[in-house]
Amino acid sequence: MATALVIGGARGIGLAISQRLSRDGFQVTATSRKETPETASLPFEKLYFDVTDREGARAALRQRYGENGVPDVVVYNSGIIKDGLFALMNGEAWDSVLTTNLDGFYNCVQPLILGMLSRRAGRVIAVSSASGQAGQAGQVNYSASKAGLIGAVKALAREVGRRGILVNAVAPGVIETAMTATLPKDQVLPMIPLRRYGTVEEVASAVSFLAGPESTYITGQVLAVNGGLVI
Ligand code: NDP
Repeated sequence: MATALVIGGARGIGLAISQRLSRDGFQVTATSRKETPETASLPFEKLYFDVTDREGARAALRQRYGENGVPDVVVYNSGIIKDGLFALMNGEAWDSVLTTNLDGFYNCVQPLILGMLSRRAGRVIAVSSASGQAGQAGQVNYSASKAGLIGAVKALAREVGRRGILVNAVAPGVIETAMTATLPKDQVLPMIPLRRYGTVEEVASAVSFLAGPESTYITGQVLAVNGGLVI
């Protein structure tokens, strides 16, 4: 059975991705920072670590997959926002967002690449954002981190393509989750041509496509799931 690792796979968009890949036939391992009654009851294997803890992430992955073992698919979904105007942004808001959203990609994906290279197969999918494609006022830290992921995906796709590893990103627009719960919907909706927020399942469908058998000639790409927010 093919295996998928979903980093940040226990709630929100990540949970929908775990559920969808599971339905697609993958044996899913979902990560979360800590065990709670909710995470413990999920019908997947769980790994618990903080993506900002480089050594902790590496140790958890080594313990799960062994020295050279790797999943067939890794999805890097963990991410946070700490919005505010750049002129007033403190260092903590900058650091925590960059460390979680971008450094976490290094901490969780880099340890798996050698194994994928030696197997000559693998899929890496990063969850970026429309903010990383177009930039969003009030989100300079977040936009930088998500644009960084796009750059990383494109460069990594070039490095590992000849070993049969596909590396892509999805870039959601505004999706109905805890992260967007406090947005002023009446001001946001007019910016979205489809005039609605996206669902977590709609993002998971795009990830499913990039993880599955219908996308074997697609690498280094950014698949936007945004209702037309960024065109
Ligand atoms: P949620 O706030 O619902 O979920 C955030 C996810 O990130 C959780 O799985 C959480 O894991 C994980 N996470 C956060 N910090 C850490 C950490 N330090 N270590 C490990 N995991 C961490 O957000 P969404 O589901 O909305 O967002 C998921 C992804 O999609 C994010 O990368 C986000 O930037 C991106 N995105 C979301 C959009 C939206 O409109 N909602 C739009 C565009 C992109 P846990 O709490 O279980 O430890």
